[in-house]
Amino acid sequence: MAFDLRTVYAMTALACVIMGAVQLAAYSTGRFGRWLGWWSANNILLGLASCLIVLREIAPDFLSISVGNTLTIIGSAFLVVAIREFAGRRISPWAVFLIAGVPSLPYFLIFTEPSQSMPRIVFASAVCALFDMAVAWEARRMARDEKLYSAELASGLFALTATLYGARAMMGWWGSLGGGPLFHNGDQMHAALGLVAMLLLTLRCMVIMMMATERTQLQLENAAYHDPLTGVLNRAGMSRAFSGLTQRPLAVLVVDIDNFKQLNDSCGHAMGDDVLKAFATAAHSAVQAGDLIARHGGDEFVVVLPDRTLHDAAGLAQNIRSAFSAATDGMAQACCVRPTLSIGVATGQMDEADTLHAILHRADQALYRRKREGRDGVDVFSEELQAA
Ligand code: GH3
Ligand code: MG
Repeated sequence: MAFDLRTVYAMTALACVIMGAVQLAAYSTGRFGRWLGWWSANNILLGLASCLIVLREIAPDFLSISVGNTLTIIGSAFLVVAIREFAGRRISPWAVFLIAGVPSLPYFLIFTEPSQSMPRIVFASAVCALFDMAVAWEARRMARDEKLYSAELASGLFALTATLYGARAMMGWWGSLGGGPLFHNGDQMHAALGLVAMLLLTLRCMVIMMMATERTQLQLENAAYHDPLTGVLNRAGMSRAFSGLTQRPLAVLVVDIDNFKQLNDSCGHAMGDDVLKAFATAAHSAVQAGDLIARHGGDEFVVVLPDRTLHDAAGLAQNIRSAFSAATDGMAQACCVRPTLSIGVATGQMDEADTLHAILHRADQALYRRKREGRDGVDVFSEELQAA
């Protein structure tokens, strides 16, 4: 099948401009971050650049060559800005000018002759290879930091396009690209490359959309399963985490802050909130990877320790109390009530006979005994307690 290269470029131009316009419309709703605005500008500029390439040999060379290449470079630079914004790393206006403006200057100052088509191709390909490498690196960082699988995909795709641009620059440099006017009749090699470029452009848009969707999904899950004040799991998060702990022995701590109501009344709710956050920090400092911390409600927390004995769990409960006491030392001076913890400890095995509810109930009984016997300490569930 024969492809007409001018038609391929015209289709690419149309696809980019439509995509950019749709993204601009979405961005103007105010529901998306600035990254979508930059991405939309990237597509619109690449679309306009392709339009000017379509007009090669029809419109003046200054427009179709100098302005066309400049728009390609500025548009590609905007994608680097978009991906950095998406990663939450703002880029200063000076840096935008530097990466988008400076590489465009040679098209007006150096490569002004129509015969310099090869230096123009080599330079534009090298600059685009660098931009795509920057995008691939940023995506790799997001994949690592945010655990976004689709960012891994984006990184691979942009590394591939950077390699293709790099290969094109080197082929041009070594003179193996073949010069002459762009739109030779029947130049199938160029047309096939144009088609591949269009396909990769579409794929790149798809993976960026996947990254945005995956991040939103993770943020929603995070909000649904975590307590916004302390950052620990909420009840729903705890139930979900528990479903992965069946058939394993585990120890459970039920923790309650002593006289918290009085602390709230005397020092204010803001101080009460700080005490709740201090507990979360203290608990995090004492537990290991794989342990769970959840807010059961109000001033009550649950700490789940898989594969731990009663003795180990009681020791860890004391460590939490010490860390909490150190963290709230300064607060205690501003309050008439010194924040302390009462902790009940129980162990069990998550199976049909011994459910989460039953283990929590035993830890609760130990906690109530501690409350009855003066608070500020750790009690473990025992047979004697059960009999009582
Ligand atoms: P005890 O020693 O018996 O546990 O007494 P207590 O005062 O701690 O009693 P209780 O557990 O009933 O009090 C819990 C208080 O926690 C009541 C409620 O106003 C307060 N509380 C619940 N959620 C929050 C919160 O998010 N922030 C703050 N500051 N206070 C909260
Ligand atoms: Mg309490």
